[in-house]
Amino acid sequence: MKPKIGVLALQGDFEAHRAPLERAGAEVTEVRSAAELEEVDGLVIPGGESTTMLKLLEDEQLLEPLCRFGGAKPIFGTCAGAILLAAEVLNPRQPSLSLMDLTLERNGYGRQIDSRIAHIQISGRPAEAVFIRAPVIRRVGADARVLAEYNNSPVLVEQGKHLAATFHPELSPENRVHEQFVDKVRASLSEQLN
Ligand code: GLN
Repeated sequence: MKPKIGVLALQGDFEAHRAPLERAGAEVTEVRSAAELEEVDGLVIPGGESTTMLKLLEDEQLLEPLCRFGGAKPIFGTCAGAILLAAEVLNPRQPSLSLMDLTLERNGYGRQIDSRIAHIQISGRPAEAVFIRAPVIRRVGADARVLAEYNNSPVLVEQGKHLAATFHPELSPENRVHEQFVDKVRASLSEQLN
């Protein structure tokens, strides 16, 4: 069965997630309302500007539905999306969905090195990671598992059904991270059937 994955499309680089998700075998749809959220088996929160995204989520009254969704179904947050998933956000402090036990510092790599393409290892295999004004993961809770690091800090973390990346896997040809998320959505679907 093809899992149906939504991409939150209020702001940011949501369009870039369609191709890698489709390549990983998902049906993809854009989500802008609580009704559209109800139709999907998993959700991607893309990169962009987390403060703006937060404000748009409030305006659309989507914060509460998103928290409920995350209690039951997988969410994959990239960059600003990862900031929204975290339990604690620094620089400056701002509210978040608190679905993953992480502390993230916004723009944590500093201003001079705003963006870069780095080489990392994901589960022991080399991969490219595109960082754009990326947050740094300062703390990882006991229930979270680090899947990749860069400069001695985690950049890809999973906790239960959720996945967070501080880089942008949708901007690299490599499809492993999206495949990993689609696998999580498939697993959560078969759990719901049992
Ligand atoms: N710096 C942005 C923020 O704090 C995130 C950047 C990104 O998503 N590429 O929201």
